[in-house]
Amino acid sequence: MLIVKTPDEVREIVKDRFAKNGFDSEKIKAVDALGRTLHCDIISEEYVPGFNRSTVDGYAVIASDTFGCSESIPAMLTLAGEVLMGESADCMLSPGTCLIVPTGGELPEGADAVVMVEHTEDFGGGIVGINKPVAPGNNVIFKGDDVSVGDLVLTAGTELKAHDVGILSALGFYQVDVRNKPVVGVISTGDELVETMKSPGRGQVRDVNTPMLLAAVAAFGASAVNCGIIRDDESAMRTAIRQAAKNCDIVLISGGSSAGSRDMTARVIESEGQLLFHGIAIKPGKPTILGEISSKPVFGLPGHPVAAYLVTELFVRPLVAMMLGAFGKPLTTGARISQAVSSNHGRAEYIVVRLDEDGMALPVKSKSGLITSLAGADGYICIPRDCEGLAAGSQVVVTYF
Ligand code: AMP
Ligand code: MG
Repeated sequence: MLIVKTPDEVREIVKDRFAKNGFDSEKIKAVDALGRTLHCDIISEEYVPGFNRSTVDGYAVIASDTFGCSESIPAMLTLAGEVLMGESADCMLSPGTCLIVPTGGELPEGADAVVMVEHTEDFGGGIVGINKPVAPGNNVIFKGDDVSVGDLVLTAGTELKAHDVGILSALGFYQVDVRNKPVVGVISTGDELVETMKSPGRGQVRDVNTPMLLAAVAAFGASAVNCGIIRDDESAMRTAIRQAAKNCDIVLISGGSSAGSRDMTARVIESEGQLLFHGIAIKPGKPTILGEISSKPVFGLPGHPVAAYLVTELFVRPLVAMMLGAFGKPLTTGARISQAVSSNHGRAEYIVVRLDEDGMALPVKSKSGLITSLAGADGYICIPRDCEGLAAGSQVVVTYF
């Protein structure tokens, strides 16, 4: 008999037992930090921009010198010089004068606006005509307009995107503290499995789960370790699982997770540590095990690749996120289901879907185990345990893979 838990109970157990594992950090270059999770808040120690800057090519002016001017009665200002790009505007602008500034150039002291070059006329002899008035602050970004010293710019737990790397660079954070990646060990079991580069003989199949799960956990932000294919041999499995639990933060072992006499995973986990539950009330993925060995979570995943993948998405992804201290939620979108789907077996059912351009979710037909059915899949929907199915056109929430 399996000790079956609901998905919510499973999430609770995982959180209570293992969310506190992890939390070490390391310092790395910001440029290498894409996808990593911030360990600390980022508080600015600088002003951005660091000086008053022009946002256009034109003339720095005292705005009040331009009030009331027009094309027929331009304001005549004396050209006092030019600010060069990348150099300080080392002067004080006096009334009745102006200074050439490039886009991004520094405003001289005394100036409070910039007139676009398009609204000026060069009268020669050092006189510039202004054809359009500006108000104080026009075409200027002032020191600290973006960020001030002491501003909280990024919070601990942020999964860094490319634009965050840009923000860190703007603020002078060449290096940044990020969470260590949890190490996830992946073991596949089965006498029938051969490695990808080998040709399967009669009765053999290629190992799908190892490469797939290594890729999945890497995508979650973990560091994936291939612990190899283990034959259906209890003592070999015990050695492999013990070793993996010692060296990794999470262990995934797929295959042999059902309740049959040839399914050894539960027995092996029990003999090496503690069995927390055996079975989740979901379809696919019912024969899923969670155990604890050397204080580490050990997931016994179904051998069927589609089921193994879904269970990993549903329960391993959030655990990795918790260990990283990441607060990002899975991406979801609303859609309408393209066809009626029936479901009445007392288990929450997860249905893999493809999204089309019109916002329709098309169920992907799959005999559990045929991984190729997932080609082009975007995510999944969940039909709750007590729901008997969905009518075509029903509104659903799709969670992206
Ligand atoms: P099991 O849970 O070990 O009984 O496996 C269930 C089904 O999944 C069987 O058809 C296995 O051949 C298949 N299977 C198990 N592990 C893998 C794997 N790593 N790659 C591909 N198929 C697998
Ligand atoms: Mg097997």
